[in-house]
Amino acid sequence: MPKVFRVALDTPLRRLFDYLPPAPDQTTFPPVVGARVRVPFGRQRLIGLILEAADSSEVPAGRLKPILEVLDGTPVVDAGALALLGWAAQYYHHPIGEVLSSALPKALRMGASAAASEERWFATAAGVAARAHGEPRRAPRQRALLEFLSAGTAATAATLDEHHGSWREAARALTARGWIASAAVAIERSAEPHAARATGPELFAEQHTAVEAIGESLGGFRAFVLHGITGSGKTEVYLRLVERVVDAGHRALVLVPEIGLTPQLVGRFRERFGVPMAVLHSALTDSERLGAWREAFSGHARIVLGTRSAVFAPVPDLGLIVVDEEHDSSFKQHEGGFRYSARDLAVVRAQQTGVPVILGSATPSLETLHNVDAGRYTHLRLQRRAAHAQPPRLILLDLRKSAMQAGISMQAMLAIERHLAQDGQVLVFLNRRGYAPTLLCTACGWIAPCSECDARLTVHLGAGRLRCHHCGADAPLPPRCPVCGFAVKAVGQGTERVEEILGERFAGVAIARLDRDVVRKRGDMEAVVRRMASGEARILVGTQMVTKGHDFPNMTLVVVLNADQGLFSTDFRAPERLAQTIVQVAGRAGRGSRAGEVLIQTEFPDHPLLQNLLAAGYDGFAHVALEERSLASWPPFSRLAALRDSAKTREAALAFLSEARGLVPRPPRGVRLLGPVPAAMAKRAGRYHAQLLIESTQRARLHGFLDAWLPEVEGLRSARAVRWSLDVDPLELF
Ligand code: ADP
Ligand code: ZN
Ligand code: ZN
Repeated sequence: MPKVFRVALDTPLRRLFDYLPPAPDQTTFPPVVGARVRVPFGRQRLIGLILEAADSSEVPAGRLKPILEVLDGTPVVDAGALALLGWAAQYYHHPIGEVLSSALPKALRMGASAAASEERWFATAAGVAARAHGEPRRAPRQRALLEFLSAGTAATAATLDEHHGSWREAARALTARGWIASAAVAIERSAEPHAARATGPELFAEQHTAVEAIGESLGGFRAFVLHGITGSGKTEVYLRLVERVVDAGHRALVLVPEIGLTPQLVGRFRERFGVPMAVLHSALTDSERLGAWREAFSGHARIVLGTRSAVFAPVPDLGLIVVDEEHDSSFKQHEGGFRYSARDLAVVRAQQTGVPVILGSATPSLETLHNVDAGRYTHLRLQRRAAHAQPPRLILLDLRKSAMQAGISMQAMLAIERHLAQDGQVLVFLNRRGYAPTLLCTACGWIAPCSECDARLTVHLGAGRLRCHHCGADAPLPPRCPVCGFAVKAVGQGTERVEEILGERFAGVAIARLDRDVVRKRGDMEAVVRRMASGEARILVGTQMVTKGHDFPNMTLVVVLNADQGLFSTDFRAPERLAQTIVQVAGRAGRGSRAGEVLIQTEFPDHPLLQNLLAAGYDGFAHVALEERSLASWPPFSRLAALRDSAKTREAALAFLSEARGLVPRPPRGVRLLGPVPAAMAKRAGRYHAQLLIESTQRARLHGFLDAWLPEVEGLRSARAVRWSLDVDPLELF
């Protein structure tokens, strides 16, 4: 047995901790790399992971303590996963212990068993009796669930997902009344799974080419960009390849953005495949997450489908990785300590595992297109729309020349009227929720501010509240100006007000709204989608949330209320985001057999970005945008990292970053330090934010510099007075 084990612990220290083997009578399992252990740490006992075994330690023998207990007989993090996590720790310059802990479900970090059991639900005797009496009377979902469980044998979560959609809430209510219960049961392994349950449509020529090209690469690493507008059949290509992989006895990992993981998408996979799937996303409870992780870990799940952090999910015998909507910013973890790009890590994982990765998008990120240009990624196009749908027509509406009603131009109103008259459905897009972004006193000019942020409070009229969209501050809506007592007025538009205006104008037409105020729990989004899909609601007003995941064949008109926010931002990525949003929203129009129309309201119809997007589409835009990035030497033509901090005062926030910069009066060749500067919104949630950028045209130079510099930064006394973090490849600059 090795004499020393190096253990990663969830601490901010950039090192491993050495321990002696456990006393033989203290533990059931021998220690192995990748197993969890309980160890003494100061006065605490922590759970950590063995990363290395060694014959000696630099710590004097007398001070080494033995491992208290080994929790796993086999590694919970296998060699492949360790390689990915190790890579991530190095690339993102983050302590390995914290990186590991973000890869493992909380329940495992607390010591839960990794062995797979599954949750099975059944009706209790009391439940069966209650049902016989027609209970519960006023909750149809609960009644349906109770009926289902009373009728049969214990059902798995997967079965319930399939038959009852979002059933968890109903299950919680029934459990609380003692009518149903769940128990963990060891999973019964079925015989070799059969992949296809339903067969897909016959592929178009382009889909066929894509499936063949990627299919030929199975068994080795290669990155593919599947570039096709919404509705061009990308998902069908994923399904075909997943089928091949599963048929060959391997497993697939499919990553989707936060709002892309809709019940429809999960349903489409379940419909197609008769194999167990694990679904991982941020709304799971700790025990649900543990359950899904175990399904993946045990290999029982043949397909693992999830959002950002699922890139770390255990998938034995992985054969393919898919990243859908690869440009989506939700793949970037940009809060907390460990900040990473799941899209980029997916490519690294594919490379390390030796499997193909598909990056799908209607609007690939400029980074990805640059990789295509450089010959690193293979570009596959899907040009035609499925089901013979026509691409939509884009038209700019000059806001300077039109009469307006609460942010909606007369032309847009008339177009909405026309499309409704022709039985079409209409999408009105505005990336701002609430009723109005400003509350203004018409007498003294007072504007309701957030006391904790450099920001205004947003009016939420329905709720009667003023809310800060940056820190969550929440106050009652004042009836009069708190300064002079005069009347106050809501200025500007949010989705809530647009819904109201359209409701007045198109009386009798049902309007649905989709934003974070409407969608608060699981099932809310589905309810809105159902109203639109059934045709009951004919106008949909929404934020970014509307861009993905729903297919409304009857949607013939899309109105973008304000394209101008992205045109003049200081963030070099703003134009890319704007172009992506416009193209994605426009993609909602005309998915059926009828051609769609897209109206974009702007005060700058001559702006080159908009002109170029209209004339040359996303490709033309991307081409010009990449040239601009190249001239300005922004990513992907350079590499960036942002050292950010926040403190109780502006001075303290800047002082730490200045000292950090002062550590290197002359940065090494090819590395530039820019700043520090206060953030554009310097005060947020009561703290002052600032940033120092580190830039290099060469990745190796940047990382070499960070390796040498960060330990010194960490050692600064001022580091203890602030909260700081490093963001490698930051997406948002301020
Ligand atoms: P995307 O993922 O690019 O948005 P999808 O794969 O979801 O596109 O396809 C859009 C619609 O067209 C779906 O309803 C899908 O079932 C259908 N579809 C895709 N491929 C085909 C095909 N080869 N033949 C017929 N219908 C198809
Ligand atoms: Zn006033
Ligand atoms: Zn605030």
